[in-house]
Amino acid sequence: MKQDYKEIATTVANDPASYKLCSVCGAVVDKQAPTCPDCMAYRFTDDSEQVVNRAIDLGSRGQNAVSHLDTLE
Ligand SMILES: [Zn+2]
Repeated sequence: MKQDYKEIATTVANDPASYKLCSVCGAVVDKQAPTCPDCMAYRFTDDSEQVVNRAIDLGSRGQNAVSHLDTLE
């Protein structure tokens, strides 16, 4: 499943309350999702500021950034 990260970044930045951040892999996940679709983790951060920053970061770097930024804590 491919997604346009720039489009997602814009969407998330406009409505950060609807998203959360996976504490394990750093993916931006829909708040309705019970687990992370990328790594199946169920620990999340729902700090809007972190969600937006992460979304913008992903949008500007592309999805390869995830493997280089796995120390997000
Ligand atoms: Zn994850």
